[in-house]
Amino acid sequence: MSKNILVLPGDGIGPEIIAEAVKVLNCVNARFNLDLALEEGLLGGAAYEAEGSPLPDSTFEKARACDAILLGAVGGPQWDKLENRDLRPEAGLLGIRSRLELFGNLRPAILYPQLADASTLKPEVVSGLDILIVRELTGGIYFGEPRGVRTLENGERQGYNTYVYSESEIRRIGRVAFESAQKRGGKLCSVDKANVLEVTVLWREIMEDLASEYPDVELSHMYVDNAAMQLVRAPKQFDVLVTGNMFGDILSDAAAMLTGSIGMLPSASLDKNNKGMYEPCHGSAPDIAGQGIANPLATILSASMMLRYSLNEGEAADAIEAAVSAVLDQGLRTADIFSEGMTRVSTSEMGDAVINALQ
Ligand code: NAD
Repeated sequence: MSKNILVLPGDGIGPEIIAEAVKVLNCVNARFNLDLALEEGLLGGAAYEAEGSPLPDSTFEKARACDAILLGAVGGPQWDKLENRDLRPEAGLLGIRSRLELFGNLRPAILYPQLADASTLKPEVVSGLDILIVRELTGGIYFGEPRGVRTLENGERQGYNTYVYSESEIRRIGRVAFESAQKRGGKLCSVDKANVLEVTVLWREIMEDLASEYPDVELSHMYVDNAAMQLVRAPKQFDVLVTGNMFGDILSDAAAMLTGSIGMLPSASLDKNNKGMYEPCHGSAPDIAGQGIANPLATILSASMMLRYSLNEGEAADAIEAAVSAVLDQGLRTADIFSEGMTRVSTSEMGDAVINALQ
């Protein structure tokens, strides 16, 4: 039976990087007889322009029915001024994540040895880096109600959001993190702000409670401000980090820079059955869209995570990852990871090089 993949190019560099990932998927599909069936859909600004909604019903129906989703990125300055926030591209992204209950966001930060020079940190601090950030994705302050901007009695305006996590939400992301740590180095660091925020006092309590079920995992806790500092001071002390939606958003971008470029980082967002949406960690990069210089490797590696986690095609995933490593060995670099002595390539040349390495 064929495996149906919904491809959502999105906005900005989204269509450019997705085109390369689709080329790679078509290549492994033929080589490994995967029986993948790819179908495209609209999400974000592109969907708003075509259908008046950043998450049209037709897209959601396809997303619900398919086996896995591959997303480029959404957003752009032309939609930032839309008064109705529900019509902005980001609402489409948050909507699809929450309606599909994709609560478990896995963000590996791996430094390919070939890119040690591309990191702004000293090679000895980052070489060999291999950490996994597990971010809760459908709760916390990004979704909490009430939220908005209100006018106080004295006429001053006040913005407000609500940071809320229920016990079951903490427990289910905790399980994803403990299980991930079991499959890796057996160390889990839970990041919170339990010295100030009650919601994370509960977070810490639930993590402690879960620890007794995973005696093979060593659990530690760290305040988020310290975690930010430790990530740039001595990132290799970490194996798996687990944290809430907003802290994870920020820490995973910091982790991205450890690896040289956000253009290298894939991610998976999984539901409780491991159905998932796979996307690069970066956004739609409107500053470089249309120039053919975006790095497609984060998206290609996201496609590889999709094969591994949702489609159980580990062999094809291994082949893609080996091909990415091979093109880096050949010295091929997009602009974001370019350094002296390397060969600068465009988005599509990088995709072609991965395919050549696969063949
Ligand atoms: P961004 O990640 O799009 O860009 C940050 C910087 O990284 C830019 O200088 C960009 O050129 C560079 N960059 C990003 N991806 C790259 C790649 N593949 N190759 C080379 N360079 C790359 O973040 P931003 O500028 O804060 O946001 C731009 C838009 O993206 C906004 O509308 C934002 O809402 C949206 N956004 C979307 C997602 C998503 O779709 N998951 C995530 C974050 C931001």
